[in-house]
Amino acid sequence: KLSERLERVSIHIPKDSILADIGSDHAYLPCYAIEQGLAARAIAGEVSEGPFQSACSQVKQTELDEVIEVRKGDGLDVLQEGEATCITICGMGGALISQILDRGKTKLSKVERLILQPNIAANIVRNWLKENGWELVGEDIVEEDGKIYEILIAEQGEPLRPYGDQIENGLLFGPFLLAEQSDVFKKKWNFEKSHWERILRQMPEKGENQETEAKREQLIQLIKQVKEIL
Ligand code: SAM
Repeated sequence: KLSERLERVSIHIPKDSILADIGSDHAYLPCYAIEQGLAARAIAGEVSEGPFQSACSQVKQTELDEVIEVRKGDGLDVLQEGEATCITICGMGGALISQILDRGKTKLSKVERLILQPNIAANIVRNWLKENGWELVGEDIVEEDGKIYEILIAEQGEPLRPYGDQIENGLLFGPFLLAEQSDVFKKKWNFEKSHWERILRQMPEKGENQETEAKREQLIQLIKQVKEIL
């Protein structure tokens, strides 16, 4: 059975997509997308040998080798320009997702939708999208096994549109998630806030050194930002 996290990602795949799932590991997502009739064809990209082999066996086992191609390579290197209409990159840090997109920029010109699920640092992904002509068109947030995951959906468009005059909060919290204020969203940010407050309490006394002082200021700022929106 597909994880709740990846199931929620799959909901956003447009029907009849040519899907490229980058960092696919077992290729569970492309297999599911084909089985559910969401994608017409798919490519599963993997950089590491172990996960690449897992993807190959999964595709073979589900007898989907006619419609899913497993390719080994770094990020979007596995794609030809114009080949995929929808790209999913899930289960990695936001910095890595942004780096993969940035390195593969030339492969994105004909892509209609990106669905990105950073495990941490979604703000880095939002920032990359904003700087590169991608407009967030929706967001989702899901809790599974005590972890909370954000899902970002983007299309080529007006990158600033979803933020209005709330750019700073929007980049950190997500403009759609912020407007929606779901229970899971509140839980996530209450948890982050407590975590930062704990770090702050454990930090050495004021005036220790410049680096600690800067870190302290940053934490105080973040805690304030969370308190203002919750
Ligand atoms: N996408 C799956 C999911 O969400 O369940 C698997 C997530 S797994 C934690 C991350 C996978 O990304 C690993 O299999 C890793 O080998 C792969 N990966 C990391 N960097 C990559 C890159 N630059 N290009 C392709 N795959 C990469």
